[in-house]
Amino acid sequence: MIDFNRAPYLGTEVEYMQQAIANAKLCGDGPFTKKCSQLMKEQFGTKHVLLTTSCTHALEMAAFLCDLKPGDEVIMPSYTFVSTADAFVLQGAKIVFVDVHPETMNIDETKIEAAITERTKVIVPVHYAGVACEMDTIMAIAKKYNLKVVEDAAQGVNAWYKGRALGTIGDFGCYSFHETKNYTMGEGGALLFQDDAYLERAEILREKGTNRSKFFRGQIDKYTWVGYGSSYLPSDMNAAYLYAQLLEMDKINDKRRQIFDYYYEHLAVLEEKGYLARPYVPDYAVHNGHMFYVRVKDLETRTDLIRYMKEKGVLCVFHYIPLHSAPAGKQYGTFHGEDVYTTKESECLMRLPMYYSLSMDDVKYVTDCLLEYYGE
Ligand SMILES: *Cc1c(COP(=O)(O)O)cnc(C)c1O
Repeated sequence: MIDFNRAPYLGTEVEYMQQAIANAKLCGDGPFTKKCSQLMKEQFGTKHVLLTTSCTHALEMAAFLCDLKPGDEVIMPSYTFVSTADAFVLQGAKIVFVDVHPETMNIDETKIEAAITERTKVIVPVHYAGVACEMDTIMAIAKKYNLKVVEDAAQGVNAWYKGRALGTIGDFGCYSFHETKNYTMGEGGALLFQDDAYLERAEILREKGTNRSKFFRGQIDKYTWVGYGSSYLPSDMNAAYLYAQLLEMDKINDKRRQIFDYYYEHLAVLEEKGYLARPYVPDYAVHNGHMFYVRVKDLETRTDLIRYMKEKGVLCVFHYIPLHSAPAGKQYGTFHGEDVYTTKESECLMRLPMYYSLSMDDVKYVTDCLLEYYGE
């Protein structure tokens, strides 16, 4: 059986984890957390980065830092993971969903402006499959209406928009290091931002409402409870695993891109014959091979194709059920404008196996199965 996903593992992780144990510093903000942060600052050109326990928690921190009031509105695509919306629902915000571009499944930036009201405070672009949203347009709209932009870059680590790392363009960027993502620590994430003004509050939020981060830097001689907060620090043990992966970022990226390119090239014939569509990467974007999906004719075809692939020993899976059709989505959000593509395209999308340890022989086998299904 060819799995759909396996957690990336290089072999060097265990050395760093042993070092973490030897350091006898397993709590948050230890040596490996600092190394990961430093590396991300250099690689992605972000001024501030705080490692968190998940992307969900990074989104929650960003939502706190946006200073929302109950009833404020947040614009995002409906085609995304629940955490994108949940983080803002926890602040009492109302979610306003807008449609996606069918070719990228990213938010359609031309539909954002019409969804803005005097209650709108935040736009949340989600970089689906590590392919950048049209950020120049989104940032211009945000500037015009004085809105904040929180990038859900859970899938966009080491992916780029016009030479800028995803997650560093908006007011806040949120990364995921969950085991299903390109680089992992099991469960984990990061919050990125460029404005120094957010640093103190972000650190307090992350450290249970205390100014302990300042204390550790020797800026104060005792720490105390100074505001509200939670515990969003991952263990240094997990950071040690992540550090090994970030050091070999290019190696992991190259392999994923190799798999993506193979699928892309060898499935071209199915697109030419009109059976399916492959992912589209706009010129402005450099993607990170996070995902390879095909969009088939309809839901029936997809169900049949998933069944067929499983029979052949290949696990292929569909993806998000649009949030506006979920019970909580109906309670906390509304879809603005017409749902032309979100529901329709989400029903046609199927993801193929994609992970670092997937062999090219297996990639060829998966491709051949798909070609065979369509009689090619
Ligand atoms: C994975 C993912 C998340 C959540 O990440 P966690 O680290 O598991 O909390 C949020 N948004 C998107 C788009 C994701 O793909």
